[in-house]
Amino acid sequence: MYKKSIAELSQGLASGEFSSAELTRTYLDRIETHSAGLNALISVTADEAMAAAQLADQTRQAGNAGLLTGVPLIHKDIFCTEGVKTSCGSKMLDNFIAPYDATVVASCKAAGMPMLGKANMDEFAMGSSNETSFYGPVKNPWNIETVPGGSSGGSAAVVAARLAPIATGTDTGGSIRQPAALCGITGLKPTYGRVSRYGMIAFASSLDQAGPMTRSAEDAAWLLNIMAGFDARDSTSVERDVPDYTATLNDDLQGLKIGLPKEYFGEGLDADVGRVVDAAIKQYQQMGAELVDISLPNSHLSVPTYYVVAPAECSSNLSRFDGVRFGYRCKDPQDLEDLYKRSRGEGFGAEVKRRIMMGTYALSAGYYDAYYLKAQQLRQLISDDFKQAFEKVDVIMGPTAPDVAFKLGAKASDPVSMYLSDIYTIATNLAGLPGMSIPAGFVAGDKGDMPVGLQIIGNYFDESRLLNVAHQYQQETDWHTRIPQGFE
Ligand code: GLN
Repeated sequence: MYKKSIAELSQGLASGEFSSAELTRTYLDRIETHSAGLNALISVTADEAMAAAQLADQTRQAGNAGLLTGVPLIHKDIFCTEGVKTSCGSKMLDNFIAPYDATVVASCKAAGMPMLGKANMDEFAMGSSNETSFYGPVKNPWNIETVPGGSSGGSAAVVAARLAPIATGTDTGGSIRQPAALCGITGLKPTYGRVSRYGMIAFASSLDQAGPMTRSAEDAAWLLNIMAGFDARDSTSVERDVPDYTATLNDDLQGLKIGLPKEYFGEGLDADVGRVVDAAIKQYQQMGAELVDISLPNSHLSVPTYYVVAPAECSSNLSRFDGVRFGYRCKDPQDLEDLYKRSRGEGFGAEVKRRIMMGTYALSAGYYDAYYLKAQQLRQLISDDFKQAFEKVDVIMGPTAPDVAFKLGAKASDPVSMYLSDIYTIATNLAGLPGMSIPAGFVAGDKGDMPVGLQIIGNYFDESRLLNVAHQYQQETDWHTRIPQGFE
């Protein structure tokens, strides 16, 4: 049962081949057997999941089932879940039980999808390896000595290990796509504003976007159908119709123009990863696509720009965690200042503190123009590069990450080399564009066979096309069906 696609699960539930209770139990059993070794989950909500599964079965018997009624999933622990701990990977929120559901969570609940648990993640989604989590690092199911990527590493690991059919993630600078690449799954970061951010704990509000993390593009289309849509409670949510993302999966790719930015294939890209990505692109050519050389000349500015904008926004967003209203409070504070200082000092981890300090500095009166204002100007240049590219091409392709999964601890003490893990994904967030990562093959080496992701970037609100382009490749290849050893 755990090898079935969402379409097959939906079909199996509709025909009565199995019930949601049986399906949910199957996954909970797999979680029990495998999840401790991966450390991929912060909470397992077995009782709630079984109750939701029974409700889904009753809804079906009453003839009111939707397509996904009874299909279980896992949410990243950044989404508020009513009555269930929402930690955001931080000691600061280790005791936080959300009083309401995020819109994404509410939409999945309304669709009748039982929640199996909450996925481990980098603290406040800051990281590329899942090593900044208060709950310890997640292990990559392809080799448990390596990182799963981050910050949605728990979500990527559970889908790769088949501990859930699908999961949700969030992406501020690459946190859906990079872990998807490193764990050999499919991940889609939608256009900024496509999916509601309400109830999703804010990291950098102008960049954060939630999306599906799945085995295949087809599964992602099913989940995006539920996640996408206007939400009056998110002021940056876009009022625009949601197409049926499954309807165009089978469109022909004949004549598709694929842009290949020269900046994404140069220095810094691992040669073996580059070969896998080249082979995937050749495959598209054989499928009828046309390859066009392009340039995104301001690409080299995206990491430095991001590391001004994202910390600036996080320093403001995280000011609410003061020991008074939410989460952790230090013991025996002497006065209000001591309460603030020690609650924040003890509640936040090192990477979060680093970001708050960088952001506060960049926003300070004396340096605002030199850093924040300048970064906003560069952000515009980066967006304009894409605008010009999309006048010539339909999608842009390249690697998702410069290398395969690295060893746990390898970059933990070197923030800059960690920040470079997102060198190919960050510009998309700065521009607000949708981007996807799909499994494109493996690199054989001393870590064993490690998965490689192909990144596909689309124009604004062109998620249908991204999913179509990804699905067509997955009709021709079977990389996305591979299961890591020990989890078959
Ligand atoms: N790795 C990047 C960071 O640490 C992106 C994280 C994300 O997308 N949430 O900020």
